[in-house]
Amino acid sequence: MNEAREVTQNAYAPYSNFYVGAVAKLINGEIVAGTNQENASYPVGICAERVLLGNAATLYPGIAIDTIAVSYDGHETKSDHPISPCGMCRQSLLEYESRVNNSIRLILAGQQGKVYILKSARFLLPFAFSKEEMG
Ligand SMILES: [Zn+2]
Repeated sequence: MNEAREVTQNAYAPYSNFYVGAVAKLINGEIVAGTNQENASYPVGICAERVLLGNAATLYPGIAIDTIAVSYDGHETKSDHPISPCGMCRQSLLEYESRVNNSIRLILAGQQGKVYILKSARFLLPFAFSKEEMG
């Protein structure tokens, strides 16, 4: 969590001023990070969680993620409570769990304050759509 809090400083968030950092510990012990990367063309921006998943899949293909910590720094607002991944990231986290057949423990917190811990991304997205639905 401390690394996730620190890596928020690497986010590119000039539009929202909402700097998000995500750090994963893989089952092989490696650490991978991601930060949100915004763009003047807003839909082009990408969340920290999906940057992290892309980095993990590229650097360590097929290696499961044990834990992901997500934090943020609002710069202009308090960062004193947990945030949870957006719907798109929930879907991506769930599919990552499925593709490596391993639950991802999620630790969610601000720069200070309460910390939420979930045993799996599936608790964030009940009744999820999956590739099995497509036959
Ligand atoms: Zn997201």
